Amino acid sequence: MSVPPGLPARITGRLGLDDMARHVPVPFRVPPGCAGLRIAFEHAPHHPGAGDIPHQLSISVIGPDGSRGTRHNNADQSVLLSETSASPGYLPGPIEPGLWRVEIDTHRILPPGGIDWEITVEAVAAPDAVPEAPPPAFVPRTGPLWVRGDLHRHTFHSDGLWSPAAMVADARARGYDFAALTDHNTTSALREAQTAAGQDLLILPGMELTTFHGHALALGSGALWDWRIRDGQTMSERAAAIMAAGDLYVIAHPMSAGHPFCTGCFWAWSDMLPGPARLVEVWNGTWGPGPKNPLGLDLFHGWLNAGHRLVATAGSDDHGRGSPEALPGHMLVSVAVLSVPGLLTALGRGHAVLTSGPRFTLTAQAHGRDLLPGDCAPGPVPLTLDWSDAAPAGRLRLITGRRGEEGVRVAHEATVGPAGQVTLDPALLKGADWAMVELRDAQGGMQALANPVFLGAGWEG
Ligand SMILES: [Zn+2]
Ligand SMILES: [Zn+2]
Repeated sequence: MSVPPGLPARITGRLGLDDMARHVPVPFRVPPGCAGLRIAFEHAPHHPGAGDIPHQLSISVIGPDGSRGTRHNNADQSVLLSETSASPGYLPGPIEPGLWRVEIDTHRILPPGGIDWEITVEAVAAPDAVPEAPPPAFVPRTGPLWVRGDLHRHTFHSDGLWSPAAMVADARARGYDFAALTDHNTTSALREAQTAAGQDLLILPGMELTTFHGHALALGSGALWDWRIRDGQTMSERAAAIMAAGDLYVIAHPMSAGHPFCTGCFWAWSDMLPGPARLVEVWNGTWGPGPKNPLGLDLFHGWLNAGHRLVATAGSDDHGRGSPEALPGHMLVSVAVLSVPGLLTALGRGHAVLTSGPRFTLTAQAHGRDLLPGDCAPGPVPLTLDWSDAAPAGRLRLITGRRGEEGVRVAHEATVGPAGQVTLDPALLKGADWAMVELRDAQGGMQALANPVFLGAGWEG
């Protein structure tokens, strides 16, 4: 390999079809005493010439001390980096002398390939530092209480339209108590989102690991996890590392259409079906149209029947392009304390309901103890459902399954009004290993879905 250039540098190359799903390294050398870097990436053509789908290339910047971020799938692939400031998608920090590299992340290259690219890097003066006050701390709320929020949101720090403040304003307008920040492959919007959220809206820090073979949310710490699964690495090892650090790992929209429509969106990590994952986003955006959510729920049922104790989640995946009138899936979570640790604990246990808006709660009693969705009961128990703000005519459905069997049973179904309470006869759960209760609308669309209650032995751990 040739000696990497110093600064300024202009490096060019060409990508063919075989370069798809690679991290093409472009090294350069930064001399001592450099206060800032300006990096620009251009490529042509942007479009293969036929059809509506463009090539999809982004860059990542990696310094001697590790990744500095990326701005996934954004038209603006120019970067300014210094100790105190950085372009959206990137993290500020010292400009260490030594070997740096840009990696061209080739998410999608369409036939006939043949993309010419150019990267320029120059040293620049650091902008005047503007001292920033730390974001105001969220004031935890003690419960127990059911709280409402969204687990999947993007900003212009990746490929969203929303600024972090606009994302927060939307969450507030929807009456949410919390909102997760899950930009693709970066966490750089966190500070601005927390500042906008103030003391009364909880931001759940996170990112969406947007790999070439599936998307996953890491929620909790706001750490910039490496999203690249390189040769010799596995997604299940990455998931285990994320979980070992205390973050939640959520398989996102596993049954989305994949390449070329949404390259990487279909879950294809064969070591993670579901592998060590415990949370699965079965409801992404609005329930319909399209089959991704019904198919995702079928997949989830199958994994329950295979004996995996899992938690279902919902997230809008809103990039700021949705209509404010849209009713995407989001969460109602039963927390002991509304705080980041309190929310992570409750979500990890599955103490949650997925909803497009209606309030819908499930509680049960076993040996004088209150059970929530996600909990285990020693055997059949009466399940109590409470709901309001639902469609005028809906269908309440009890779905049950057994380990080792294919498919599920509709154990009970009834027409219900916009609000009500019902306790289901425990006899309906006889022979079942798990049960989920759905509230559908008259057309079959999902209004709300409670996490499974697990029955009998063998689900612990
Ligand atoms: Zn995604
Ligand atoms: Zn997303």
